[in-house]
Amino acid sequence: MNIGAHVRGGGKLVPSLEAGVEIGATSIQVFVQSPRMWKPSQYAPDVLAAYRDAQAAHPSVRQTFCHATYLINLASADRELYEKSVACLTSNLSVARAMAASGVVLHVGSHKGAGFEEVVKQIAEAFERALDDAAPTPDGWPDCPILIENAAGAGGTVGRSLDEIAALIDACGGDERLGLCIDTQHLWASGVDYSSVSGTQALLDDVASSVGVERLACLHLNDSKIELGGNRDRHANIGEGTIGPMGLAPLVGHPLIRELPLLLEVPGDGDGPRAQDVIAARQVVATGVALYDGTSSSALVGKTVRAAKVTTVKESAKASKAVKASKTTQVTKATKSTKATKVSKTAKATKVSKVIKTAKTAKTTKVAKIDKTTKAAKTTKAHKTVTPTKVTPVKKAKKP
Ligand SMILES: [Zn+2]
Ligand SMILES: [Zn+2]
Repeated sequence: MNIGAHVRGGGKLVPSLEAGVEIGATSIQVFVQSPRMWKPSQYAPDVLAAYRDAQAAHPSVRQTFCHATYLINLASADRELYEKSVACLTSNLSVARAMAASGVVLHVGSHKGAGFEEVVKQIAEAFERALDDAAPTPDGWPDCPILIENAAGAGGTVGRSLDEIAALIDACGGDERLGLCIDTQHLWASGVDYSSVSGTQALLDDVASSVGVERLACLHLNDSKIELGGNRDRHANIGEGTIGPMGLAPLVGHPLIRELPLLLEVPGDGDGPRAQDVIAARQVVATGVALYDGTSSSALVGKTVRAAKVTTVKESAKASKAVKASKTTQVTKATKSTKATKVSKTAKATKVSKVIKTAKTAKTTKVAKIDKTTKAAKTTKAHKTVTPTKVTPVKKAKKP
């Protein structure tokens, strides 16, 4: 179990870790600049290095996520706003990489009625520009993906469905530096009812067949002030909203979800997540785990493993597609491709071990099969590699 929370460090980085400790969070999410202003915060290199070291050595806070600035709108038709947004995302990502963060969570923006199809290309270009132009992750540290957050669905927001998010990732050629963050409140508001075991299974089947389970890096764990399908972004404290603890339990207790960072963005008393909110979240996860680890869980587990298999097979198909594609693209992409492969290997390693671990915990016998499928996917991927690259350490890598 890994219950995290959005915290404030008063504009400083290392104190954010202590803000997490104070409420019992084992992961944190922070803004790296004021979320409603364009002006980037400047951090000296030694401040960023101090953060990397403090996080890696921290006894209880395992991961840091950054939330991108709210003003960003990559779907805007206004050229000036679009360019400002790309610059801001690039700056956010530079800081997050320098902090060795596990991801930058992003609200893509709104096309304001122009239609999703109209904005796919410009969003894909924005992602690629930010990923290529941001200052690189310091040597020896795992890379930091952009995590696309699902939207509640109001006013032409992009990312209102998993299919939209998958389309954006596909438009970037399946770039491994893109991932997914599911917000439980936004998902509820967009009309997805995961409040039963079968509802959760349907959702995770959807994730597997669209974005891919292995791209799901974290969840935002929030109850909702809005009813199912209400299309508005309004978070409630756990147990005080329309989803309720029993509605959240099937999702957060699922074997594929229960070990992911579950980041609270609840209002608390008005100042954000409190210790009691973290405790409430722990109870919900425990309730959910009991749903699956009870006597009749074997059927479910089988389903989970099948979902994981579908994903890896799909990955493998995607990879061969990518290989074909890369043959027809220009050589100028070579450098990028090398980088992406390196990252993808690191990412893959984490994901694979995660899936396998989950399967093991669930006492299934199909692990070897998954492993084999995954290996096949990896092998296909390797064709993309321009030069052999080293697999970098996955978690909390120390400096070389
Ligand atoms: Zn969120
Ligand atoms: Zn929200």
